[in-house]
Amino acid sequence: MTSGRGAELALRLAEVRSRVAAACARAGRREQEVTTIVVTKTFPVSDIRHLADLGVRDVGESKDQEASAKAAELASRGLRWHFVGRLQSNKAAHVAGYADVVHSVDRARLVAPLGRGAREGGRPLDCLVQVSLDADPSRGGARPLEVAPLADAVAREPGLRLAGVMAVAPRGADPDEAFSRLAEVAARLRQSHPGAVMVSAGMSADLEAAVRCGATHLRVGRAILGSRPPLQ
Ligand SMILES: *Cc1c(COP(=O)(O)O)cnc(C)c1O
Repeated sequence: MTSGRGAELALRLAEVRSRVAAACARAGRREQEVTTIVVTKTFPVSDIRHLADLGVRDVGESKDQEASAKAAELASRGLRWHFVGRLQSNKAAHVAGYADVVHSVDRARLVAPLGRGAREGGRPLDCLVQVSLDADPSRGGARPLEVAPLADAVAREPGLRLAGVMAVAPRGADPDEAFSRLAEVAARLRQSHPGAVMVSAGMSADLEAAVRCGATHLRVGRAILGSRPPLQ
């Protein structure tokens, strides 16, 4: 059954998939190396159902309340839930109860509650250290020098798996330059944590640069779902 919205999502998803395929071809990378996470924040569960019908397995959300309600409603669909938003320490244990991957671990205070939530849920939680590429505190992220100690803390915490790094390109920055710096941080981290292979970078506007710079996971919202209402 293809409603208007289902057809629209199918079209935009196909456009993004071909952008990713073209970017991989130009970068000499295999498409299977790059996973597109569809960031569905602010959009209804019905959209996620359409996306699941279209073969999407990885979805991203950025607010605990919204994410947990959607994950509960779609529990039977076998989706992988990526928490990509800023994380408050008093919400961290709750997020660990439904998320498969948390992309935004940017300070040590989050580690214990994430670990507790993961252990209570009885399943391991993949964690990415979010790296700040411009030290803008409003966007979150650990400074590059803070990454190693934070990563060590994640790796030591029972229930958590250190899976890699994540970043958002700074506003107005050249995304190739920003994502190259992220790639250097990721390479350094893999010297001490060889399993930390995920590099989450690239959104609707800069996914080509992220693919060029070695991203393994793209987080794409608007290019697939359309524009979001402005954040309150
Ligand atoms: C919303 C969001 C995205 C998706 O951004 P688009 O520009 O809609 O593709 C990616 N990453 C994070 C952390 C987000 O909050």
